Amino acid sequence: MAEGSRYLDWGKEQLADHFGVDPAEGLTETAAKKRRNQVGPNRLTEGSSLSPAVLLLNQFKDFMVLVLLAATLVSGLLGEYTDAIAIIAIVVLNAILGFVQEFRAEKSLTALKELSAPMARVRRGGEWKRIPAADLVPGDLVSLESGDRIPADLRLIQADNLYIEESALTGESVPVSKTDQPIQGGKVPLGDRKNMGFLGTMIVRGTGTGLVVATGMQTEMGKIAHLIQTTETMQTPLQNRLEQLGKVLIIVALFLTAVVVLTGIVHGHDAYKMFLAGVSLAVAAIPEGLPAIVTIALALGVQRMIRRRAIVRKLPSVETLGCASVICSDKTGTLTQNKMTVTHLWLDGHQVEVSGSGFEPTGEFTSGKRKLVPKREPVLNRLLEIAVLCNNAELIRENTREGMLKRKQESWRVDGDPTEGALMVLGAKGKVTRESVMKQWKRVKEFPFDSERKMMSVLVENRQGQQMVMAKGAPDVLLNRCTHILQGGRPTPLTPSMRQKILSNNNQLAAMALRNLALAYREWSGVQPKQEADMEKGLIFVGLAGMIDPPREEVKDAIRKCRRAGIQTVMITGDHQTTAVAIAKQLGILTDDGDTINGNEISRMSDEEFEKRAKTIRVYARVSPEHKLKIVKALQKQGHVVAMTGDGVNDAPAIKASDIGIAMGITGTDVSKEASSLVLSDDNFATIVAAIEEGRSIYDNIRKFISYLLASNVGEILVMFLAMLAGMPLPLVPIQILWVNLVTDGLPAMALGVDPAEEDTMDRPPRNSRESVFARGVGWKIISRGLLIGLFTLAAFWVSYNEAPDDLVRAQTIAFSTLVLAQLIYVFDCRSQLSIFHRNPLSNLPLVLAVASSALLLLVVMYYPPLQPIFHTVSLGVREWALVIAAASMPTLLAGVVDLLRPARRPAHG
Ligand code: ATP
Repeated sequence: MAEGSRYLDWGKEQLADHFGVDPAEGLTETAAKKRRNQVGPNRLTEGSSLSPAVLLLNQFKDFMVLVLLAATLVSGLLGEYTDAIAIIAIVVLNAILGFVQEFRAEKSLTALKELSAPMARVRRGGEWKRIPAADLVPGDLVSLESGDRIPADLRLIQADNLYIEESALTGESVPVSKTDQPIQGGKVPLGDRKNMGFLGTMIVRGTGTGLVVATGMQTEMGKIAHLIQTTETMQTPLQNRLEQLGKVLIIVALFLTAVVVLTGIVHGHDAYKMFLAGVSLAVAAIPEGLPAIVTIALALGVQRMIRRRAIVRKLPSVETLGCASVICSDKTGTLTQNKMTVTHLWLDGHQVEVSGSGFEPTGEFTSGKRKLVPKREPVLNRLLEIAVLCNNAELIRENTREGMLKRKQESWRVDGDPTEGALMVLGAKGKVTRESVMKQWKRVKEFPFDSERKMMSVLVENRQGQQMVMAKGAPDVLLNRCTHILQGGRPTPLTPSMRQKILSNNNQLAAMALRNLALAYREWSGVQPKQEADMEKGLIFVGLAGMIDPPREEVKDAIRKCRRAGIQTVMITGDHQTTAVAIAKQLGILTDDGDTINGNEISRMSDEEFEKRAKTIRVYARVSPEHKLKIVKALQKQGHVVAMTGDGVNDAPAIKASDIGIAMGITGTDVSKEASSLVLSDDNFATIVAAIEEGRSIYDNIRKFISYLLASNVGEILVMFLAMLAGMPLPLVPIQILWVNLVTDGLPAMALGVDPAEEDTMDRPPRNSRESVFARGVGWKIISRGLLIGLFTLAAFWVSYNEAPDDLVRAQTIAFSTLVLAQLIYVFDCRSQLSIFHRNPLSNLPLVLAVASSALLLLVVMYYPPLQPIFHTVSLGVREWALVIAAASMPTLLAGVVDLLRPARRPAHG
């Protein structure tokens, strides 16, 4: 029998025996470790990325660098050894710099990829644990939930309403219904192996458990791994635009260089020397370092985001973050803490208060002044039974040692959905636990919760074979499926007035910001239902459970920050409108000018009507995931750049359609994460705002070093260009030009890439996404500063040359040091959108160090005698230094003053 069909007809015991696993306990950690060493990680091997050697060699592939090397070789052959060796040394240094930049960029990108590696929920040593999917081994028991990607090849040993979409493997996009029963019949094609789950396929509905039978390259997906394209384009729009710009700049630089060379020759300069100077100028003027520095700025920014708990999955979103003008956020868990506690019940015609806090299962039930004992109250007892049986969460007791004396402390934790956890705690407070109810009832079937239908149900059976349906869900939904109500222990028909009474009590609880669930049941006999609709009808309403879910502390501030930054916050929730409004008001999302709406109203509206309303709506309640897509589109139509959060399978389309799709790291499904561009590792709204702040500052920094690099290049070309036009001697020799380039493309530019954010980063409106990178002052800065740097350098050269026309080396040293110094001063000017006077120059220490070391290097090549002939420099005196310093600081000072006098601009972020 083919290997893949091998386990199809095996029973559960045979499987467990074969894989040496106890189905109740799972593998032990030691056994798992041993197997992992034998079979290797559960990972598909990918094509390797560029090796460091190739990356280094690539640095010499640039056409102009090759021309320069060839020209240098010729000059070496002609006897100019020192020049030739020095130039080659600088070219090599430049290549090493480029290599280091690109290597770092590549490494950070790989690190990012590893961060978003998939996880799996596995049974090990008797406990459910979340581990990286790469650590799974054959024999592991894995729990499966809708929205997960299957983490390895599995034989299903339990499947509840489980549907898996296997198109990645079979091409069939209709989800396949799965079973846990053995399948007979020998060789079965992939698409018909209904008791198997395959690595990489997606669970669209239901729950289950699977036993890992193959991992990594042994899986069905592994067998076709070479067919799957894994490369993803990681270029951001800005990187693409800069690449285009780079091409234009190459042409401009080459053209200007050609003009410089020709005018030089016309004015009687030596043709060969002019050629070498021209090629050096071209190498210097082409900003070949730009793409690598952009990547580094992005990658380092992304690492800062990780420290603030936002994981970027798609690099382009870093840029889009700065443009976000509205954040649509889920309520539960993102704006609130998702630490639910049931505080109120409504049953049998009266309200019951439940004391206690957190997950600690101690508390009392009181109605008015009367203390209730659940065992003696049939309605309350039934409610607690449903709460515990129609539930997949686990309440776990943990012993920890705390404090100085390391005293033993008992703490409680919930594994699973916090809403269900709160119900387990509720049950335990009334002494109804899973162990106690399981003595009487066992679960036969489950129709799981999903946020579309907003309810779930289970079929349970007792020893006598008596069956019962137990259901819980959103009160308004569940009530529609009820025909009776449990009163005084007996089901009575549900009258319209009683229905009204339940809804109004539901409303009262919701107005207290409580999240409500209704619980119901019915007796069942006969055949097992195939569809949920068969079972979830004719129910007997038992009661309501209202739970608090406190807002996250830090969210209020984050929302205030958004308001200042011109970003709107919108709450989207599956919860009841009244609950949503109460919390939105507490958080400051809903103020007087805001509007609210619920899913039913949205469904009734035309697209045009809805788009108009969407302008003012701040709270969307009782929405289904499908509404989210409508909301994204309406907001985008109004010109908004939309950030949208989501966690479920059905949220994926809206996440994908939004400009910044955000998934939850803790509670999010694999599918939502894959659709997203940003994952919040703490599920927290405040993290989105932190990421936007970082996004804005990263983009700012990119604009800063673009201003720096390009203005410096303009200055360099201009000095040479104007000198040749005016018939002057060469103001800079090739080695000097190359050295200037090394200094400018090097440390100071990189230090600008990590410049701390300006104080007003979150006080400006969002950037327009269509805006050019040169907008709002950058273009002006490049031209004005570039022009001034060129002019003043030339002026300094001219003054010195006029004084001593036969000491050209001195004049060249002055031009060289003025140019370097002017750029080192100008770099501080680039840190602010306004002018150099707006920021403390010492607040970026790496930049200060970069500038100081560059200045030191300048002094070394000027004053260290062995280097003087190589760099064509001489030592300068005080008077000459005064000239250099004055000429070097003028461009920045002069332009700064002019900018100060211009009418105040309040720039958008950028
Ligand atoms: P958000 O979209 O902000 O995360 P939410 O978590 O309240 O909001 P859903 O999870 O879609 O949204 O829940 C919608 C409603 O379904 C809830 O108000 C609740 O009444 C009900 N509900 C939530 N969880 C369960 C569950 N596990 N079983 C049954 N009903 C549930």
